[in-house]
Amino acid sequence: MLEHMAKFFGSQTALREANRATLLDRIHRSGAMTQIEIAEATGLSTATVSTLVRQLVDEGKLVTQNTTRNGRRATLVALARREGLGIGLAIARRELRLAVIDYAKTIIAEHVLPLARGHKTDTTLERAMVLIHETMSNIGAAPEEIKGIGVAVSAPVDHRTQTIAVPGILPGWDGVDLIGPFHEAFHVPVTVDNDSNCAAICEGSIGAARGKNNFICVDTSDGVGAGIMIDGHLMRGVTGLAGEIGHIQVDPLGSICSCGNRGCLNTVVDEQRLVSLLTVTHGNMTLDDLVSMANEGDPGCRRVIADAAVRIGTVAADLCIAVDPEEVIVSGQLALAAELFTEPFQQALQRLLFPDAVTPMQVLTAQYPASCSALGAAMDVLEFGDKQPHS
Ligand SMILES: [Zn+2]
Repeated sequence: MLEHMAKFFGSQTALREANRATLLDRIHRSGAMTQIEIAEATGLSTATVSTLVRQLVDEGKLVTQNTTRNGRRATLVALARREGLGIGLAIARRELRLAVIDYAKTIIAEHVLPLARGHKTDTTLERAMVLIHETMSNIGAAPEEIKGIGVAVSAPVDHRTQTIAVPGILPGWDGVDLIGPFHEAFHVPVTVDNDSNCAAICEGSIGAARGKNNFICVDTSDGVGAGIMIDGHLMRGVTGLAGEIGHIQVDPLGSICSCGNRGCLNTVVDEQRLVSLLTVTHGNMTLDDLVSMANEGDPGCRRVIADAAVRIGTVAADLCIAVDPEEVIVSGQLALAAELFTEPFQQALQRLLFPDAVTPMQVLTAQYPASCSALGAAMDVLEFGDKQPHS
């Protein structure tokens, strides 16, 4: 009987936990909603929603305010925001991502907009502004609650000038002032950093490397780059080029790279190259298609990802020997293939590290593989990125 009751209560607890997660996830994705809207969207009963909301308000995770819907009084429920919000924007060749966090590092909202290849900078910046305003309105927050805007770009950033350090890497964005427009519009601090650095900040702060002071984050969006965390400090280098492992030469007779050199790692593992390996058998596809099909079991797509993992792991081994990290985190589009990427990556990496080292290098998939750059940019500007905020 007791055992039966324990099982009963055990499953009740599990159910309540699952309901809480469903409710929080819904508000996280949709912004502020009334209790009735939450019940309709989640399929939970209004009584359950009401109980859960009351508990989560007591825990400081949610806030409520009175509102009206169709002329009736209703309770609007939103995620609690402590002391203000940080906005993170990640600008890549094919997409713009936005993340909103608060000072408790709670993720308040996330969005992604696809961008056309070769998108115009002024149009993209305008879309980013609109997206920020729309998102703030969706979560029921005033623009004055924004405390800073962090921008991550898929190119090395010279920290002294906060502009792109090497021309040609992110076409159209060379020399573009990324700080001025956001500062003028929102009157808050704006920072600009490399996307791999921001990925490392996010994963070290709330992700797979949480609590670790020495790790590297190999980011595989728009080519390969690494964020290097040493003793809790992000190593950016004098001109912002630290960790640009996508530009290490792997084929002296290879193609010319966007940086102007020849045979860089990026020339063999970037999106265009990887999808081109499948045009004969699979037709035109994007890297997202390739990863999805690999996850569904397509052998050709799996082969392309495994081979890319070996090429990237081989180069990442050099970086590991140089900085001796505790672990390696893999983020970005290829990380969405999880162990299809990390297993061959780890094997290639480990084969080149000290064979008699006491501990093998740990390789983990990022906890936020797609959104870590935007999240890290927001953390960077709120100054809980690396332990010594840059000036
Ligand atoms: Zn290059």
